[in-house]
Amino acid sequence: MSFNINNLVRNNIRNLKPYSSARDEFKGEASVYLDANENSLGSPLVKWYNRYPDPLQWKVKKKLSTIKNIAPEQMFLGNGSDECIDLLYRCFCTPAKDNVVILPPTYGMYEVSANINDVEIRKAPLLNNFQLSITRIEELVDENTKIIWICSPNNPTANSINRTDIYTILNNFNGLVVVDEAYINFSRQQSFIKDLQDYPNLVVMQTFSKAWGLAGLRVGMMFASEEIINIINKVKPPYNIGIHTQELVLQALENIADVNEMIKLLVDMRNALSEVFLRVPIVEEVYPSDANFILVKIKEARKVYNFLLTKGIVVRDRSNVQLCEDCLRITVGTELENTKLIDGIDAYLETIAE
Ligand SMILES: *Cc1c(COP(=O)(O)O)cnc(C)c1O
Repeated sequence: MSFNINNLVRNNIRNLKPYSSARDEFKGEASVYLDANENSLGSPLVKWYNRYPDPLQWKVKKKLSTIKNIAPEQMFLGNGSDECIDLLYRCFCTPAKDNVVILPPTYGMYEVSANINDVEIRKAPLLNNFQLSITRIEELVDENTKIIWICSPNNPTANSINRTDIYTILNNFNGLVVVDEAYINFSRQQSFIKDLQDYPNLVVMQTFSKAWGLAGLRVGMMFASEEIINIINKVKPPYNIGIHTQELVLQALENIADVNEMIKLLVDMRNALSEVFLRVPIVEEVYPSDANFILVKIKEARKVYNFLLTKGIVVRDRSNVQLCEDCLRITVGTELENTKLIDGIDAYLETIAE
């Protein structure tokens, strides 16, 4: 395969001389720091945050490297996956010229971020079994197609995408293939991180927002070749992850056993919740889930959604999404929350029985 990242990156980004921060220009240890115009007197807090953070978050990346089995130089940390998605557009897609392919129904940010960046979106809908249509994808790709976005496990359909199909795309497409693994920890699938050594056009995204339970911190991960990561690093805001966030993520990484415990519990509760929904008379389908949510096809989904709202229970109405007609997307809650949800459904059944 004739993949060359230099053919893919935008001209202005290839030629970009990146901002050089104080922390870039002096990296050693010193006793007097007068190079960054920080407030030398301190902070109005018990703990001081008067110094700028490490622009490349090396401590976090080194720790993460032992968990993910990949070099720190092949990682990027962003202000949520949102920032990772936006940076991929800004580095590789020339506005009003290039295009990307998405596979709906899928995560909404790929399209929103494309629109913000004035990048054309081409849609190759999933098949009825929520798997890829390689033919549809092939029909859409042309010389200006820079990225194919694959979400696996997919949001909102909850299934993993067939691995062999992803390899087919990786082998036949000369642009970037992004595999968004936001929900990978809830599946039995192996991450595509280990395939990075074989595919220079592969980008893997993960997040601290789901299994790690840190959605409020806003930290997304991107794994790719060092060449790709270097390009992204040129474009990112110099200090995109704050000190406090870096410290908390580092602490979380020390507590991986707690995370694994939560994953196990959530998967058990997901399976139990699926079983319960299968027995609800108005439920037409509970789709197999590799994530921490289930997709349920239910009669008059919109009415069920509104009824649950009156009980103070919010699920995600996906009934107007193509291939998800009459579907609700339901996040696995705590034991108590799941019980309240089931009680809510029972109460709804009583209203329609009358
Ligand atoms: C939730 C989710 C993310 C996470 O986004 P963050 O910005 O990291 O919180 C990414 N991709 C998909 C498909 C998601 O559902």
